[in-house]
Amino acid sequence: LQASESCGIIGIFSSRQCSIDIFYGLRALQHRGQESAGIATFHEDSVHRILGPGLVHNAFTRDQVRNLNGARGIGHVRYPTTGGADPRNIQPLVVSSLAGDVALAHNGDIVNSSDLRNELHGKGWSFLSRSDSEIIVRIIIHEMSRSNGDPVLGIQKAMDRLVGSYALVMLVGDRVFTVRDPHGIKPLCLGQLSPFGLVVASESCALDVLGARFLRDVAPGEVLELTAERAVSHSVRASPNTAHCMFEYVYFSRPDSVLDGRSVYKARTEMGRALAREFPVEADVVVPVPDSGRAHALGFSEVSGIPMREGLIKNRYVHRTFIMGESEKRKRAMSLKLTPNRAVIQGKRVVLLDDSIVRGTTMGQIVQMLRKAGAMEVHVRIGSPPILSPCYYGIDMKTRDQFIAKPNQKREAICAKVAKSINANTVGYVTVEGLVRAIGKSEDDMCLGCLARGYPTSVPKERTRKLRGK
Ligand code: SF4
Repeated sequence: LQASESCGIIGIFSSRQCSIDIFYGLRALQHRGQESAGIATFHEDSVHRILGPGLVHNAFTRDQVRNLNGARGIGHVRYPTTGGADPRNIQPLVVSSLAGDVALAHNGDIVNSSDLRNELHGKGWSFLSRSDSEIIVRIIIHEMSRSNGDPVLGIQKAMDRLVGSYALVMLVGDRVFTVRDPHGIKPLCLGQLSPFGLVVASESCALDVLGARFLRDVAPGEVLELTAERAVSHSVRASPNTAHCMFEYVYFSRPDSVLDGRSVYKARTEMGRALAREFPVEADVVVPVPDSGRAHALGFSEVSGIPMREGLIKNRYVHRTFIMGESEKRKRAMSLKLTPNRAVIQGKRVVLLDDSIVRGTTMGQIVQMLRKAGAMEVHVRIGSPPILSPCYYGIDMKTRDQFIAKPNQKREAICAKVAKSINANTVGYVTVEGLVRAIGKSEDDMCLGCLARGYPTSVPKERTRKLRGK
């Protein structure tokens, strides 16, 4: 609940104007970024672009979307990670090259972006922004120019230089490409538009909104081109083990999305079930933190037999809290956003379910809210293990100081300390084993870096993960 998110991307190759479909696809991906939005299309030999701050429906006017011609295009919703909230970082980025205009939208974070930037500065390159996405597009164009303008070779050579997470959609002149990093850290899937067309998007929920048929996930390390006939897979350079971000399942993705073959909703429900088995408690009512804890609460209720009730009511017209940034603003936003439902809570022993605790500020306020509304006991159950290490792949959990849970402590000590800090009677986090089982993938094929299990790529001063199967 308390963390911020990375970005959402979409790309379309169609036989008709695509800007309206991209607009609606971006609205379906709005939860992945609310800071800005952009759409770029190819039309009459060049790329045309509309950009704006804020939510998708505020970022553009209706006429801007309608007048954006072209049957091929890409779109982006942004939460600022590397590069900050500077308007120059709004994507898609467009750079002109010998091969024509190149537009790029990126979800993820490049771990070695500072090294690359310094190296390229040293060679006399200059950049318009602080964004790591600009580094990607410039390296791709540079490598293309060294490969007779071949975009596939350019992308492949650039991939050799990039360390980190990246799901990309690109227009290279009139061609549409999509790329997923070799570990598949960020999700990306492919669908068939009706009557004709292909679409790639960060999550399958965007395909559903467009009435597109899900075809498959883009493979980790794959360079895929959307063409008039089909999606052409140019190459797949996967790592021996993938590293799908566990947080996508825990919190980021929409519950109706299916990521790499696993329903997010089912994974969350299983996390709740695991919690009920691992940290049972005597209580009267299970209350989800809406909406992020809903599926977890359902699973907990099913296994524990404790009824689930709407003990917190959400005001849907207030934006998610992380948009506010600082702690004071967060505090104010919380009382606007959630209200306790006394009819459910008063005189009851409450089990409060949520997806994660990062800083603990929000959860402390919610516990306080429930107590004020008459809860006799508040037992907090969390659908992810304690967040202990920063994320270097695009999720805004950057410094260890901000985490309420501290490493090198026994689980019981962490639970007791967090319970005290947020004034809960007890706190229980799902175990890593419970989480991995709930997601239904091998631990070796998931990123668990922020759970202090090592990172899937090299990260300066951090431990690389040790594969259990090796
Ligand atoms: S470190 Fe955590 S949040 Fe970041 S990609 Fe890995 S699992 Fe996801």
